[in-house]
Amino acid sequence: MTAIELPMPGPEVAEPSLEPRPWALSPSRAGDFMTCPLLYRFRVIDRLPEPASSATTRGTLVHGVLERLFDSPAYERTLDRAAQLLEPEWQHLLDERPELLELFDADEAVTDWLASARRLLETYFTLEDPTRVEPAERELLVEVALDDGVRLRGFVDRVDVAPTGQTRIVDYKTGSSPSELFEGKALFQLKFYALVMWRVSGTIPAMLQLLYLGDAQVLRYAPDEADLLATERKVRALWAAIERALANRDFPPRPSRLCDWCAHQALCPAFGGTPPAYPEAIAPAQLVPLDEPRPADDVTP
Ligand code: SF4
Repeated sequence: MTAIELPMPGPEVAEPSLEPRPWALSPSRAGDFMTCPLLYRFRVIDRLPEPASSATTRGTLVHGVLERLFDSPAYERTLDRAAQLLEPEWQHLLDERPELLELFDADEAVTDWLASARRLLETYFTLEDPTRVEPAERELLVEVALDDGVRLRGFVDRVDVAPTGQTRIVDYKTGSSPSELFEGKALFQLKFYALVMWRVSGTIPAMLQLLYLGDAQVLRYAPDEADLLATERKVRALWAAIERALANRDFPPRPSRLCDWCAHQALCPAFGGTPPAYPEAIAPAQLVPLDEPRPADDVTP
């Protein structure tokens, strides 16, 4: 398992003055900063819009169906029931964002796309029997302020609590499982949630579980205190690095193979582009992560 690399500290500066502090860090945005500080800036500070794709929208759709599935009594949580939820959930997404229909050229394309979502649900049923699961929470907002003011925040897909009181954090991914090289990055998100839940409740979640519907893989990990303390150190270091970047207005690009999925190549100096002028004023609320339902790393390989 590889360590997650933090950006190197920027040049030393005097205490940040008028720049507002970030109010909260989410695993997705933390991942953005670790991947590419400029990508973090584009998403958090500039708040540049990113076009939806059929893959990210399918991720949102399948997550919605899996959340709704547990509204039904256990004996009704069948593949047929899940498949029946696809169209209403799609309609629900369209009601909120009618422009999503523009992702498709024709009705036929929507039909094929819904069929691909159904295949992901079929895979889900090979990984888990939802009639034997009784979630304690779904789409749970978790949030905590650490003792030095670092605020952490995120949404957990599902929390299961066993009769013994042991807690399991579950996250669905509609993409494929990462290679061993990137498992650490994938688990960072769940360790982040585990850290928040530990700091809120005083109990370390017994199990972290990632269900990859793209290739029918399950990644499980039992965290211990040392893991979560290491995650906490990493998050504090990341927070400090973001504060330095804010104080210096310095968010350098860091090209990698993930640039292939970046919506902002045209504005990126690494691709000959010019970023927009740095905002003169940043509202503190701007630095609270958007609650976007599906991070891109949910669906990219
Ligand atoms: S194209 Fe690559 S280097 Fe540029 S902002 Fe996007 S992720 Fe960063």
